Amino acid sequence: MMGQVAVVTGSSRGIGKAIAQRLASDGASVVINYRTQKEQAEEIVHNIIALGGKAIAFGADVSQPEEAQALIDTAIKEFGTIDILVNNAGINKDQLMIRISNDEWQQMIDTNLSAAFYCSKSAIKQMMRKRYGRIVAISSIVGLTGNAGQVHYAAAKSGLLGLSASIAREYGPRGITANVVAPGFIESDMTADLNQEQQAKIMSGIAVGRLGTGEDVASLVSFLASREASYVTSQVIRVDGGMAGV
Ligand code: NAP
Repeated sequence: MMGQVAVVTGSSRGIGKAIAQRLASDGASVVINYRTQKEQAEEIVHNIIALGGKAIAFGADVSQPEEAQALIDTAIKEFGTIDILVNNAGINKDQLMIRISNDEWQQMIDTNLSAAFYCSKSAIKQMMRKRYGRIVAISSIVGLTGNAGQVHYAAAKSGLLGLSASIAREYGPRGITANVVAPGFIESDMTADLNQEQQAKIMSGIAVGRLGTGEDVASLVSFLASREASYVTSQVIRVDGGMAGV
């Protein structure tokens, strides 16, 4: 990925951080996007540069169209182009549907789905010019199965499948691929609240017998974002350790 430029939304921690670090070690110049965790994002940049890579941090709430545009504009201004966009930023808050307010619904859709539309729309203009691009969306297995307590989250994560498949069709002839990665249970702040009993129950259904790591997700993203993956598009690939019933 030498000479290529990647933007990873929500890469100040968790899965996004692992993806950004992996793409940087693959040789890409990376924009680390954060919403609140400026210091963590700057530390990641520091570490990438210390290892001989190129990175900058940029604060943007990608659920806001003008901030998403500013993120992509900054990548192009600082590094000259954009080749890879990973739509990773996400939030989750389990709640029964009858307790989800309209505002909470909207915030979930804005962050987990609309942000991917805003960023993709901004990035694809540059990608079309160079007739090359890789767009990867981080969905979730619950986007495939649905889940009690996650009506809003699952709806947004399902939406990413339609968004990606349509981008793949609309821009495939211009050398742009769009794929979805659907992680299972990955160790991060998002899953840190699970108690031991919940973890044990989850793990009993996972073939490899452990929770996943950000690096497990990043390995697949690295391939999908590479030149080698030019004939892989419109796919939904699970990184779930072989979860039963999915
Ligand atoms: P996490 O540890 O909670 O990190 C979320 C990241 O998203 C943070 O960097 C956060 O930035 C950023 N973010 C949130 N809202 C944002 C916004 N409006 N604009 C810009 N950045 C924003 O979550 P994670 O577990 O790494 O999850 C990453 C992605 O994987 C999410 O899309 C999640 O739905 C998906 N996923 C996770 C799991 C899992 O088991 N962990 C499973 C399936 C799918 P700040 O820290 O700066 O606020």
